[in-house]
Amino acid sequence: MIMLVSLTREINNIIEEDPANTFNGKYRFYDHPLLAVASASDYLFTELKNPKIVGQLFRLPSEWLPDAASVISYFLPFSLRVRTSNRSLGAASPEWIHARFFGEKLNNTIRHLIVSQIEKAGGRALAPVGSPGFILHYDNCCSNWSERHVAYIAGLGTFGINRSLITEKGSAGRFGSVITDLNLPSTRRSYETPFQYCPFLKDGSCGVCIDRCPTSSITPSGKNNKICHDYIFSEHLKAFTDQYGYPHSACGKCQISVPCEDRIP
Ligand code: SF4
Ligand code: SF4
Repeated sequence: MIMLVSLTREINNIIEEDPANTFNGKYRFYDHPLLAVASASDYLFTELKNPKIVGQLFRLPSEWLPDAASVISYFLPFSLRVRTSNRSLGAASPEWIHARFFGEKLNNTIRHLIVSQIEKAGGRALAPVGSPGFILHYDNCCSNWSERHVAYIAGLGTFGINRSLITEKGSAGRFGSVITDLNLPSTRRSYETPFQYCPFLKDGSCGVCIDRCPTSSITPSGKNNKICHDYIFSEHLKAFTDQYGYPHSACGKCQISVPCEDRIP
């Protein structure tokens, strides 16, 4: 617990002070984070190998780090400025796209910070995303580590019909995680099912994200990741992203102006 408190303090300092959390000093990408811990031996990690969830490609914490004991997971919520900028329908706002890519650089800084703090405390640590072993198959939207699924196991939130993870600070933001051989107290999951916080999946109410999606990727039966993926890679969105050397565009309309944008509905 002491480690989680000190990590939260360190990350808060970065969020408040680091110019890398801003676009040229003009606005912040992220607000203060949420942190939680999962036991590396939680049975739910094994369930992620189910082809209907992540698939056989998924690697257990112990397959990344022998003697893995805990997984620290965190959520970095996008700032009000970033969220507000993306309210209109149509193409994603520049602020949202910068937060997606420059913001992910800061997310990597935070992953490295956590690894180095664990090492200073005498443990070993590894952040799967960004490590040499990380595999992401863009074509079938599959990877060997999933930040959102890990966050679910750690107690940070549950999934929506749009496949975002809904946390107590909403779903608009980025996730990260670090595996360690230090044995840290696990966070209690305050939900029973993977979809508990999404009203649509509970009783058919809400569904606002379905109408917000410019590509009809989200329907009452779920989300088609392939359509969503093809949209953010489409040629007509490249003019803006090419200016900054980003590999593709972004969207996020299903996370904005929806009841789960910055809270649990
Ligand atoms: S907008 Fe509504 S239906 Fe869509 S994920 Fe959020 S809570 Fe669920
Ligand atoms: S990111 Fe955009 S295209 Fe993809 S599901 Fe959400 S609203 Fe639809």
